[in-house]
Amino acid sequence: MKRSIVAVILVLSVLLGAFAAVSAADQKYIGISMPTKSSERWIIDGESMVKIFEDLGYKAELQFAEDDIPNQIAQIENMVAKGVDVLVIASIDGSTLSDVLSKAKESGILVIAYDRLITKTPNVDYYATFDNFGVGVIMGSQIEEGLDLKNQDGPFNIELFGGSPDDTNSYYFYDGAMSVLQPYIDSGKLVVQSGQTGMETVGTLRWDGAVAQSRMDNLLSAYYTDKRVDAVLAPYDGLSRGVISSLRGVGYGTESQPWPVVIGQDAEVASIKMIIAGEQTYTVFKDTRELAKQTAAMVEAALKGEEVPVNDTATYDNEVKVVPSYLLTPYSVDINNYKELLIDSGYMTEDQLK
Ligand code: BGC
Repeated sequence: MKRSIVAVILVLSVLLGAFAAVSAADQKYIGISMPTKSSERWIIDGESMVKIFEDLGYKAELQFAEDDIPNQIAQIENMVAKGVDVLVIASIDGSTLSDVLSKAKESGILVIAYDRLITKTPNVDYYATFDNFGVGVIMGSQIEEGLDLKNQDGPFNIELFGGSPDDTNSYYFYDGAMSVLQPYIDSGKLVVQSGQTGMETVGTLRWDGAVAQSRMDNLLSAYYTDKRVDAVLAPYDGLSRGVISSLRGVGYGTESQPWPVVIGQDAEVASIKMIIAGEQTYTVFKDTRELAKQTAAMVEAALKGEEVPVNDTATYDNEVKVVPSYLLTPYSVDINNYKELLIDSGYMTEDQLK
């Protein structure tokens, strides 16, 4: 009796061992390449994805490229050499990955562009992002609401900042915002005192807050020594913080010189604190946890040979093809709804805002 139990246990353990060996060999390997740790959203994106992929039974590797293009290419090359099955990439400059992605294609790797479109290559399978034009429309509408443009006569002075010119998102954000603001500029209710408009003029390379700060310094000293700036379009919280430092430097944020309407994007902790303090007026919340979840769902479906969930097959032309995309919904955040959107949803805690 005893002997037969031992025999059964032995057989079972051999079978289990074999099963484990098979599933290890079958375990899919996901390489995740994020652009930088300098903005907290990419850290949350990367960490959420590792967790979701591991929970699904995949092996996941996460790398950050610190906004250095050769570094990102080397990290992706390395993942290809290690035999990943899938690459999830938020690019620094979406046009620089053509060579490494041809190698990925030769190895049969599935490639997902994550939040930022990868351009100039056929070797990108899907794009998971937010409604980027919609993000811009929210920004334009925030300025419209913040200045009460529908009811006030103005004129109000505004300055415009764009995102990094090597990130296609920047153009969607700018165009979306201008779809709301341009009619007010045309009618003279909004005035860009510097005359600086258009992404080719107002872009901010690498989304660098210090670059935005020094451009704002220059704008203030060249055009606003005897005028007030009433609103600033800044499409990322890191840029907004640079702009706000510059404004503070010349005396904004006092009773006689109140803050202009300054908007941002990403709902970063440092900027929500500034919204609570009345320094920044709005930001845009894009739930990166949802984006990570959506990306994992797309990867799962593709690996299983099932239909990949997409909801846009027309917008994102990467100069070689239209990349099938899934667009998530962005939300406007201000002092009245940040608790509901960010704290009740667990995106950040009340303690982080102290
Ligand atoms: C993202 C934004 C982010 C910006 C700077 C863009 O590609 O869509 O959410 O603010 O990059 O990191």
